[in-house]
Amino acid sequence: MAPQDDRPNQENNWQTATKLVHGGTLRSEFQETSEGVFLTSGYVYDSAEQAEARFKGDDPGYIYSRFSNPTVNMFEARMMALEGAEAARATATGMAAVTAAMLCQLNAGDHVVSARALFGSCLYVIETLLPRFGIKSTLVDGRDLDSWRDACQDNTKAFFLETPTNPTLEMVDIQAVSEIAHEIGARVVVDNVFSTPMLQRPLKLGADIVVYSATKHIDGQGRCLGGIILGSNEFVDDHLHNFMRQTGPSLSPFNAWVMLKGLETLPIRVDRHVASATALADWLANRSELAQMIYPGRSDHPQYELVKKQMDGGGPLIAFSLDGNKETAFRFMNALEIIRISNNLGDAKSLITHPATTTHQRLTPEVRAELGICDNLVRLSVGLEDVADLMADIDQALTAAKG
Ligand SMILES: *Cc1c(COP(=O)(O)O)cnc(C)c1O
Repeated sequence: MAPQDDRPNQENNWQTATKLVHGGTLRSEFQETSEGVFLTSGYVYDSAEQAEARFKGDDPGYIYSRFSNPTVNMFEARMMALEGAEAARATATGMAAVTAAMLCQLNAGDHVVSARALFGSCLYVIETLLPRFGIKSTLVDGRDLDSWRDACQDNTKAFFLETPTNPTLEMVDIQAVSEIAHEIGARVVVDNVFSTPMLQRPLKLGADIVVYSATKHIDGQGRCLGGIILGSNEFVDDHLHNFMRQTGPSLSPFNAWVMLKGLETLPIRVDRHVASATALADWLANRSELAQMIYPGRSDHPQYELVKKQMDGGGPLIAFSLDGNKETAFRFMNALEIIRISNNLGDAKSLITHPATTTHQRLTPEVRAELGICDNLVRLSVGLEDVADLMADIDQALTAAKG
């Protein structure tokens, strides 16, 4: 028996937290409370005729888990309920989501405009991979609306951006950039990882496609890789579905199940991440050991008006520069005892990274300088620990960093 769609009709009227616990649930004949993990690659048919009908699209049902699986479908449906998206496809990683979202809709001869401040692998896809297949790209300062406008060409088909950006937490105005794109008929793809799905809704602001690394706050406990692409029925039916079906960057059912469980607790976790990040940012802003403190939730953020317009909170990440150099930053990081050194983010555990020597090492010193990624800058992904313990840890490490 196929899993039953057990969703009450009023699902669309639920508040977010309710959608994240119940949205998209499919129950099998066993009436399990927790979502089932359908660890199966294929599906059997009652008859050869049924298989024929299934392949023709006349018989609804599953064919092969490369392109559909009940557990993965539950994760997609729950994310669709959260984002207010018509359609979604889950992917094996966040980078699979970014790559598929771009490649499925572009052809040789097309042009892409993208903000320059990107997650390292996103920059590779836009700047290096797409041009290898004849898709040219122009990188712009995402904060400057004129630079988006000026970069447009007759063949511009897509815009790509992240906001807040990694690691300097700059903002891009999704609504204004979407208007510029739509004037020339280009689609806007937003990587929404740094705000989490709780704090910013790109589709409601006019973007066409939103992508996530579910590896981050959606899982939220650093266990599984995963990703998802959300957009319109038209985009998924005409472009994404067949690309996913034929090239196979699909999410494993087990990882989809972990992500589903992550979504149930996402609102309370993000509330805690943001509350702790806000408290740490305010406390750090007064410290003499710091040369710079960046947090979108503070009124001294250079784009605070845009943050208030676009986000429901300052986010789970903060960035700061130590008064000193690379050695100061390294001494500080090495002295931390609770906060661990990792390039990952969005975990229950607080994680710190030195972008200039890790995630952004590949960039030239000139480009790093342009992006504000100095040698004394660190990025902190605030976890779920007691914030007083995090402050004590940072306090002793700042003292140790003085050398
Ligand atoms: C982590 C991350 C990605 C890539 O996601 P993976 O799941 O690691 O492949 C893409 N964009 C942003 C902003 C990220 O933080």
